[in-house]
Amino acid sequence: MTLLPEGQLYIDGVLRPAQGGARYEDIGPWTGEVVGYAPDGSAADMEAAIAAARRAFDATDWPTNAAKRRDLVGKLCAKLRENRDRLAELAVEEGGAALGGVAFAHVDRPLTFFEKLFEMYDDVEWEKDLGTVEMMGKKHRRLLIKEPAGVVGAIIPWNVPFYITVGKVIPALLTGCTVILKPAPETPLIGLILGELAHEVGFPPGVLNVVSGKDPALLGEMLVTDKRVDVISFTGSTAVGKRIMEKGAPTLKRLFLELGGKSATIVLDDAPDFASAVGGAIVCFHAGQGCATITRLLVPKSRYAEATAILEHAYGAYGQMWGKQDDPMNVMGPLISARQRERVLGYIQSGLDQGARLIAGGKAPTDKGNGFFVEPTCFVDVTNDMKIAQEEIFGPVLVVIPYEDDEDAIRIANDSDYGLSGGVISADEGRAMSVARRIRTGTIGVNGGMSMDVDLPFGGYKHSGVGKEWGPEGFDEYLETKVMAVASPA
Ligand code: NAD
Repeated sequence: MTLLPEGQLYIDGVLRPAQGGARYEDIGPWTGEVVGYAPDGSAADMEAAIAAARRAFDATDWPTNAAKRRDLVGKLCAKLRENRDRLAELAVEEGGAALGGVAFAHVDRPLTFFEKLFEMYDDVEWEKDLGTVEMMGKKHRRLLIKEPAGVVGAIIPWNVPFYITVGKVIPALLTGCTVILKPAPETPLIGLILGELAHEVGFPPGVLNVVSGKDPALLGEMLVTDKRVDVISFTGSTAVGKRIMEKGAPTLKRLFLELGGKSATIVLDDAPDFASAVGGAIVCFHAGQGCATITRLLVPKSRYAEATAILEHAYGAYGQMWGKQDDPMNVMGPLISARQRERVLGYIQSGLDQGARLIAGGKAPTDKGNGFFVEPTCFVDVTNDMKIAQEEIFGPVLVVIPYEDDEDAIRIANDSDYGLSGGVISADEGRAMSVARRIRTGTIGVNGGMSMDVDLPFGGYKHSGVGKEWGPEGFDEYLETKVMAVASPA
């Protein structure tokens, strides 16, 4: 194929190559081949970006000129919409998205979020009068004032990079923060496009900076440890999230962490359409590379054999409806990298070693070229203490766990370090809701309810994260709260 256009770093208002022209290969997950090149940003490049973002926050009117911000961020959003087809090509070629997924979370859905983001921004209460009290012979008028939090380091993973970038960068810029965006090494070009378009619409130097690089940790750790950066907004693995917390401690970094998940759907014994509830649990979207993907299916012991038969049939019917790059209905492509494929295959082996029974998939296919594919995979006879039930696989692997009764189902669902998403299905909505209320998780759908949207706060309990993205809470992550008290004679 023709190579994707090479991206450029965007630092202090200038689009440019990395220091010394360093660049690295961008590997396409569908083929395992080079699809483009990206600048390999150095420590000096990141240093320049941090200095520029700090200066833009401290010495320009970006934090205080709301009209200017609204205008420029609006223009950036319009440009992103105009560039929809480029974003789609990048999501597919660089990110391994399937076309059916591009029309959803990868590109089209985040492009529909802008209007609502602006509406929520307009609802931010910048100043609130907390009333006047008399104390020590004076009147004290108290005000609550919201202010931008400062310089934001936005660290992005590779799985749905554009979606996550929109969720961080647009609210941070609108609230008056300046931003250094660091894309994942696997998906640099879809991040660099933001710098290109911000430059095109005339962003002031330093307000948005985009620095890509091959090393997974170097540039991100610079953001985390530098005292000129006020906030780290991170989405990625729990292991790196913990490291960021540790490395951010000396500068008391304000952290927003969106981490991993091992979410469970509980199908209750009275589920109205048991076959759809169980069969619909196939993990296929983006080959299971989603933090909120539901990868544990809890079914009643009394109906376990029935559930197993339904899944055998469903996986059989799903057959080869995946891994086809030209099929617009396809939602499952390859994994992001050879390394990720090895990791997923390692988990599948551990499931076999620990005695789980494979009823579908389990291998890397031999008929799909050199792309990083793993077959849609399903394990039954899984107990919740197995590694495949406890750890995030981030691949197309569903594990099916039996439970005795509602109490047991709640216990199993909560017996996890994670708490990001989940679901409960029952003919009795009240029963389902009372089970859902007891699951320790940041979002949960009842009877298929969609719990993720631009106006709904998203974030995890426990090891799934700290803080919320999207919704009004997504703006709060980038705001400080100041109390001002004005005294006058009583
Ligand atoms: P990762 O944690 O390895 O990397 C994420 C980002 O952090 C990348 O940009 C990487 O370069 C950077 N990074 C790596 N080491 C760093 C360090 N020491 N300091 C600062 N930055 C560092 O995750 P990944 O492999 O890119 O993505 C997969 C993981 O992300 C999965 O575990 C998945 O659950 C999680 N994820 C979570 C969400 C969510 O919203 N909760 C969304 C997407 C992905």
